[in-house]
Amino acid sequence: VTFASLGLAEPLLRAIGEVGYSTPTPIQAQAIPQVLAGGDLLAAAQTGTGKTAGFTLPLLHMLAATHAHPHPPGRPRCLILTPTRELAAQVEESVKTYGKHLPLTSLVMFGGVNINPQIAALKKRVDILVATPGRLLDHVGQKTLDLSGVEILVLDEADRMLDMGFIRDIRKILTLLPKKRQNLLFSATFSDEIRQLAGGLLHNPGTVEV
Ligand code: AMP
Repeated sequence: VTFASLGLAEPLLRAIGEVGYSTPTPIQAQAIPQVLAGGDLLAAAQTGTGKTAGFTLPLLHMLAATHAHPHPPGRPRCLILTPTRELAAQVEESVKTYGKHLPLTSLVMFGGVNINPQIAALKKRVDILVATPGRLLDHVGQKTLDLSGVEILVLDEADRMLDMGFIRDIRKILTLLPKKRQNLLFSATFSDEIRQLAGGLLHNPGTVEV
């Protein structure tokens, strides 16, 4: 399996070459075609497996393919939720790295820092928003963020988000998203609580396990 055979666009293949990846990891080989096909995905994946590229590469591909659509500021097309600010920053770094040859924009927002630079950034086009749940809801409360254009939702490290008590925030965020969207859920472990969340969120999901 090669990245090219998975169907990724040339600007992504170029970025992958520049970071020096020669072959997809098992989770990437399984996840990328399923995400590109447009379905929901339930992925059992630990950190270190290459899961970040596993969802970032195909979502960049899909967003770039429909990029010319009119796009008001502060209205992301893809929302990636993570449990911690460190993971949010890391994921957004990956989005920037893999998307460097595409005309897409990203923004990361998390709590514990001044909200004003984030508000200023939302006055511009944001295709991909990476956020922790609490700060995301702060922006919703301040009406600086419009989630009605989200086409793709990613819950990264969903088990850690539940462990950290974010279930109410997540459920609130889900009510703000359009019903018709693609959902990707990544989790290292599968408790009853995760299965319940996945059951309500995902429609006929493909599964990935490594
Ligand atoms: P992750 O599991 O997403 O945190 O990724 C773990 C590490 O693997 C990161 O440092 C990536 O840069 C690296 N990585 C991801 N995909 C590949 C690949 N196909 N080949 C080599 N390294 C990779």
